[in-house]
Amino acid sequence: MFDKILIANRGEIALRVIRACREMGIASVAVHSTADADAMHVRMADESVCIGPAPSSASYLSMPAIISACEITGAQAIHPGYGFLSENAAFVQMVEDHGITFIGPRAEHIRIMGDKITAKDTMKNLGVPCVPGSDGGVDDVETARRVAAEIGYPVIIKATAGGGGRGMKVAHDDKGLEVAFRTARAEAKAAFGNPDVYIEKYLQKPRHIEIQVFGDGKGRAVHLGERDCSLQRRHQKVLEEAPGPAITAEERARIGKTCADAVAKIGYSGAGTIEFLYEDGEFYFIEMNTRLQVEHPVTEAIFGVDLVRQQILVASGEEMEFRQEDLSIRGHSIEVRINAEKVPGFSPCPGRITQYHAPGGLGVRMDSALYDGYSIPPYYDSLIGKLIVHGRDRAEALARLDRALGELIVDGVDTTVPLFTALLQEPDILSGNYSIHWLERWLDRKFG
Ligand code: ADP
Repeated sequence: MFDKILIANRGEIALRVIRACREMGIASVAVHSTADADAMHVRMADESVCIGPAPSSASYLSMPAIISACEITGAQAIHPGYGFLSENAAFVQMVEDHGITFIGPRAEHIRIMGDKITAKDTMKNLGVPCVPGSDGGVDDVETARRVAAEIGYPVIIKATAGGGGRGMKVAHDDKGLEVAFRTARAEAKAAFGNPDVYIEKYLQKPRHIEIQVFGDGKGRAVHLGERDCSLQRRHQKVLEEAPGPAITAEERARIGKTCADAVAKIGYSGAGTIEFLYEDGEFYFIEMNTRLQVEHPVTEAIFGVDLVRQQILVASGEEMEFRQEDLSIRGHSIEVRINAEKVPGFSPCPGRITQYHAPGGLGVRMDSALYDGYSIPPYYDSLIGKLIVHGRDRAEALARLDRALGELIVDGVDTTVPLFTALLQEPDILSGNYSIHWLERWLDRKFG
């Protein structure tokens, strides 16, 4: 087992990893930019290293700075969290070339899944059902038209290097296709430096269902059920829950096994998430994330497992602490993402926290790096906390969420808390009857 782990991240996810390290008796090293000198992850870690100025390109994304921090402190492994360098195959390679362990899958698997066309191809060959669409990339409008005619409108044009909900354009007919195709390519080039796009059938009322998988890197893998992340704004998740309100035990067992078998076959190591759109009882693969997800706590709640601990165990060459038959679901869990944003425009709202009070009590978990007097810097993601509740069933989880939101105090900046308070009044949310388009339509109706 490692003696010391460096966490190449900030905010709540850095705390999450530091906590797991502490429970395992492993020393933790925080890295931070100059803007984060007073951040909670720096205070909580055993050691910290400043790795550069505020912009993440010069700090949290600086591979040499992070490797140097490892060498200076003697950390034997790096946990990347999510975002930043967590899905960067070149970084994994560099880490390993320096004799440091990357806590995550092998570079090869990150590379395959990072290119969405290759990912889809690979999954299809492994027997995972995919969204109908182009076989591979589409380079010109004529091919795009031919593919769209074959699969039928509406279609969605997606960046093969895409992520974070960017570089996607919907076309409803031949006329709209050309514009959508050209804008998607231009956006993809600007955002990812790669203009390649592919085409999929645009599903009208799907749910976003993702399967948590975990591999030991030696050909054994398990699944930990699904999370329903259909409540989205601009293709970005806002609320997640597990188990999915629309998924039956038979469906879970079937798609879960398909996913676990697929990752076992490629010798996948560590945590991964296979994302699907789910419509009329069918699952359609869209992408795989080769890291821990923001929403992993809802899975931890219902299965009673610590996923970060398992990541560390597997990366150090030890065994996962469970087999498929040891895993069973208890109750229901919901997570809401608390962002420093002003509702309804969702413009970022950094600033000083004048008062912070975290909710508590049975079944309540608050993952946040906030504290009284903390100043949220304007340089990074606006996620400032995740409130996760667990109840015996969905109704209890919803009541607990309502209660916990009422206890939470974040003064000094605007947050997305009022959004969740309002959502908890909606019959569709209370009954679990929502697709990926529900939230945008509701926001349109409510705020125009
Ligand atoms: P990213 O990597 O940018 O997150 P994804 O491929 O995971 O992109 O898609 C993000 C979201 O975009 C999905 O959860 C869904 O809401 C929407 N989306 C993606 N593909 C389709 C599709 N074929 N039909 C309808 N919606 C889609």
